[in-house]
Amino acid sequence: MPELPEVESVRSGLEKLLAGRPVIKRVRLYRADIRFPIPKSLPGHLAGEPIVSVRRRAKYLLIDTPKVSLLSHLGMTGSWRVEEASVLRKIKKRDPHDHCTIELDNGQCLVFRDPRRFGMIDLVEKNAEHTHPRLKSLGVEPLDERLFTPEYLFQASHRRKIAVKVFLMDQKIVVGVGNIYASEVLFRAGVRPTRAAGKITRDEAVRIVDEIRVVLREAIKAGGSSIRDFHSVGGANEVGSFQNAHHVYGKAGRACPKCGALIRTRMLGGRSTFWCPACQK
Ligand SMILES: [Zn+2]
Repeated sequence: MPELPEVESVRSGLEKLLAGRPVIKRVRLYRADIRFPIPKSLPGHLAGEPIVSVRRRAKYLLIDTPKVSLLSHLGMTGSWRVEEASVLRKIKKRDPHDHCTIELDNGQCLVFRDPRRFGMIDLVEKNAEHTHPRLKSLGVEPLDERLFTPEYLFQASHRRKIAVKVFLMDQKIVVGVGNIYASEVLFRAGVRPTRAAGKITRDEAVRIVDEIRVVLREAIKAGGSSIRDFHSVGGANEVGSFQNAHHVYGKAGRACPKCGALIRTRMLGGRSTFWCPACQK
């Protein structure tokens, strides 16, 4: 499943492709639903509108026009790609996993493909983002330095008895800290994942916030460099170079890269968790 860094790579790829403010000529839907129903009014709302920006909120993408935004989520296997509309028109047999095409006035066509259909497409009116059911409960963005501060994390963890790793993965607190990232961040911060969130000190909150940003930025850089021409801007980059940079994740029984103690593992909140018993207090 694509994580926040991969979705950010898709966002910046789309942003480059759509930089000339192309106008949407025609939107075609090939299904009534993907994971959720697609509003029937979606093509009508988008036709004739220029694309002015491409944003990301958690793992959702927002393709903005002045009046409405097209909201999408890649789910497990979703992707956006760009084709020449003239080429697409000549293809006799349409790919059955292409669920939506957006023809632009520059001759290009954006295509949303999703074989397993855990992704989604929806329409969001301007100024209705904070009430949209998929967006309204999302926590702060980890790369937003104004909102995601050590003090924010410290206050949010106050009196919480759940394990700090489960707490960091709660999307209502902060978005985008997936299972692998949570183990790696806590190793780098020297905090044991099983500790109660409420026992985290202010100093530890500083280290955790710093490491979340460092780890996500590294992964975004790795993802960004692996998609060169942005012809295809979607899908999970399963063998990203972040994969090779794991210190503890998937390394149970191996030596800790800092101290040589053996890495431990257990399930926490239903997810496999890894830590060094010597480095992480
Ligand atoms: Zn260690």
